[in-house]
Amino acid sequence: MATAIVTGASRGIGAAIARELAARGHDVVVNCSGSIDKAEAVAAACREQGVRALAMAWDVSDFAACQTAVRQIRDELDAPTILVNNAGITADGLLLRMKEEQFDRVLQVNLKGAFNMMQACASVMVRARTGRIINLSSVAGVMGNAGQVNYAASKAGIIGMTKSAAKELGARGITVNAIAPGFIATDMTDALPAEVRERAERQIALGRFGRPEEIAALAGFLASDGAGYITGQVIVADGGLG
Ligand code: NAP
Repeated sequence: MATAIVTGASRGIGAAIARELAARGHDVVVNCSGSIDKAEAVAAACREQGVRALAMAWDVSDFAACQTAVRQIRDELDAPTILVNNAGITADGLLLRMKEEQFDRVLQVNLKGAFNMMQACASVMVRARTGRIINLSSVAGVMGNAGQVNYAASKAGIIGMTKSAAKELGARGITVNAIAPGFIATDMTDALPAEVRERAERQIALGRFGRPEEIAALAGFLASDGAGYITGQVIVADGGLG
């Protein structure tokens, strides 16, 4: 079984993915940026599955912190051969009103953060000649979304980065795929105004928001041996929104 890093796993989709990977027998690092108590609770739930799990806080947008964290994980657990780049933020606003810092921070965390972690882990995976990288994109990155030029740009960037890294790393036995969820019930979508949520529900073929566990099941599959011939793909899980 492998050692997995799940960024942004203190709640929401990341927490569900950490639990799913633990249930599949992998040791798990539960990353967050600040909410270490919540990350520790997720790690404790993972340990109940009989695996090792560490809660660790670092900011994925900090290049050096990512390098240090991966070195520490290698020393304390094992070389990480599963990476789930899930940490993400929103800072919504219309194009004409968006502040420069709003744009920069979302790109720094969502896109640069995934780059930082991929670079820190890829060298370890290349040496191991095996690896699974799963990047969280979004339907916003595929279809666009009013009020989210920053977020949609970061999530479209994830798609280009995923496809390029898949081409670079395939010969080393490493797969790189993206998941593009639609509306999933987490803190991120709880923050949306009620009318936006209701309008979204009417546009979703299944008529409801997804559950974090439904994204985690897909991530668990992509991390498994059964997904060994799938790479460079963007898998949309949006309940029929698109
Ligand atoms: P969420 O509930 O808001 O949780 C975000 C997680 O990211 C938290 O664990 C948070 O930890 C962590 N995080 C934020 N900034 C970080 C940083 N700089 N470094 C490390 N960790 C950081 O989010 P979610 O809804 O589960 O979304 C998870 C991923 O799926 C995101 O990439 C999101 O864009 C994507 N997605 C979500 C939806 C949806 O409908 N929910 C749809 C499409 C795509 P702290 O609290 O400690 O900062």
